[in-house]
Amino acid sequence: MNQPIFRFAPSPNGHLHLGHAYSALLNQKMAREVGGKLLLRIEDIDTTRCTPELEAQMLRDLEWIGFEWDEKPRRQSEHFDEYADVLKKLADLDLIYPSILSRGEIKKIIQAKKDSGRDWPDDPDGSPLYPGIERGFHNAKRLELITSVKDYALRLNTRSARESILTTLNWAEKNNTQDKTIDANPLQWGDVIIARKDFPASYFLCCTHDDIIQGVTHVVRGKDLYHSTSIYVMLLEIFGAKKPLFHHHKLILDHNGEKLSKSKKHKSLKELRSSGITKNEILDRLGFT
Ligand code: GLU
Repeated sequence: MNQPIFRFAPSPNGHLHLGHAYSALLNQKMAREVGGKLLLRIEDIDTTRCTPELEAQMLRDLEWIGFEWDEKPRRQSEHFDEYADVLKKLADLDLIYPSILSRGEIKKIIQAKKDSGRDWPDDPDGSPLYPGIERGFHNAKRLELITSVKDYALRLNTRSARESILTTLNWAEKNNTQDKTIDANPLQWGDVIIARKDFPASYFLCCTHDDIIQGVTHVVRGKDLYHSTSIYVMLLEIFGAKKPLFHHHKLILDHNGEKLSKSKKHKSLKELRSSGITKNEILDRLGFT
């Protein structure tokens, strides 16, 4: 059997907190239990918010908590050419289309629908679904639109993408007691943005592509990404790749039961360390001792 491959894939767009430490250490624990390889992937496509300083601090924090990755980390910002090729594949399959409507314009359109008494669904992250207006435009109209603006988004035609897969769409979710098959429901996301005009990247596109080419067999990450797995496995099927096993772990919460965030509100690992907290106290708090 091939060696299992795990990955921890943080974004250096802020400082890591205890939630990241938990995810990293759980990946490490699970990888060690099965003699797997452990990769670190730096998800830094947002080159304005992700900085070399934050990345350097992130590596120091991970070393401090005892996270030991194999191989040189893959940095997403060094692979935009690959993502452009992947995007081209989706374009060749006629699964993406340009969308010039701004967030504000979309909001207004949805508000008008609501005002006329229509219910309007939200995606699993709580944002109203894109109304699909530009999806059915013919090529001439698309060309006319995109030449009228400086920048535009490229959206995935989620319904066509789903229909292009002729089988059931699901994933295997592993937890401590049992493995479950979860039905994927990509339509609940609507037509997600998959790239922009001069920017062939998005979380969905890059994460899926990287997991494929890195041969990841086990995706262990927080429950907050559970629903996004529907889009992820749909893209995997479209690219003809094998699905990894998934484990969406508990989130570390603060005293008010709120999910930790990279905002100032929650102490970062760096701050915890400078306040005198030891590595063992962190491991203890997260249940790794
Ligand atoms: N880069 C993502 C984050 O920091 C994680 C992606 C993943 O684990 O699939 O939230």
